[in-house]
Amino acid sequence: MLAFASSLSTAQPPKSNVKSQQEHPGSVANPDRDIPTKLKSDVAPVFLVAEGLNADGSLIGNYKRGLRYAIDYFGNYGPYYIYLLGPSSEQNVREIFRKRAEIRVNPRASATPKEQMEEFLNRPNVTAEIKAVLSGKAEGGLTWTQDPPLLFEDVTTNATERDRNPIENTWGALHEYHHVFQIAHCDTKQKRSSDKHINSWMAEGMATYSSAKFMENLGLVDFEDYMRQLRKSGGNIGRPGINEFLARTKEWRLDEESYWDHNGPSPQVYYMIGAWATAYLIHVVGVDEKTVLKEWYHDIPRMGKSAAFEKHMGVSLAEFYKRFDQFIRTSDDDAAMRIFGSNPGS
Ligand SMILES: [Zn+2]
Repeated sequence: MLAFASSLSTAQPPKSNVKSQQEHPGSVANPDRDIPTKLKSDVAPVFLVAEGLNADGSLIGNYKRGLRYAIDYFGNYGPYYIYLLGPSSEQNVREIFRKRAEIRVNPRASATPKEQMEEFLNRPNVTAEIKAVLSGKAEGGLTWTQDPPLLFEDVTTNATERDRNPIENTWGALHEYHHVFQIAHCDTKQKRSSDKHINSWMAEGMATYSSAKFMENLGLVDFEDYMRQLRKSGGNIGRPGINEFLARTKEWRLDEESYWDHNGPSPQVYYMIGAWATAYLIHVVGVDEKTVLKEWYHDIPRMGKSAAFEKHMGVSLAEFYKRFDQFIRTSDDDAAMRIFGSNPGS
């Protein structure tokens, strides 16, 4: 198991899934909020790093190694604030959170900036994050606002871990930035089953696929080996892997949205099987990789995800679910790996 587990672990879905930390809808009516060009940005991502971290510059350097690749691929969306936090100084951590509250102030809201900052700092999820930082626990993840000022945040509460693991750090940066791009093309006030939002398998599966593929392109992991590991062991996502999951869970659906709750079969469906569904689109359906990971999203705000999917993938969502279901339930490891076109076991 890779040490990367903590940043994408499904054992802690709130940390890194794109579902958990949405802002509450406010009262400002803004029907244009989901138009992606509004989030297309010239502003470079901003890093806020706690004292005691990044001593030799490698924490930011290794994060940027992934971020630069992702921005080059997806385009620059933002404003994007990256918080790399650790427990060295409580005063410093509290200053950074005040700064974060200030950045989020809407000057046109009826509440004063001071009131808005107090309200933000007293939110249960924010106080929990501060506590996690001070106790060195891994929490947080990708957050975004749904009302002005529109922005994205990647909050890492235990960046000490990332400081020690350059691979995890770069991988996490790639994964989260795919979410930034996805969210810029979705109306996150809608349910994930809605046509204006993407399903969890699309969000997590495509980000799992893309980040591993980009890590290979950067010379940092072996992509095919990673895809095989998702089947055999669950790789850096968690346990059980796909094979064990499929052997003991007959009833599951890729587009079922309730698996975030621990009562459902498992949110790993979204990450691992979602990554294989992405591989299936590229390597079996034969859709260009960039179309699957990027281009089709551009049409979601205008035509909805079902029509956008069918237009770009050449197959309806319903037909895709049917075909992929057959594939994933019936292929063994070697048969599945053959979709990548290389010699299995090599
Ligand atoms: Zn994710």
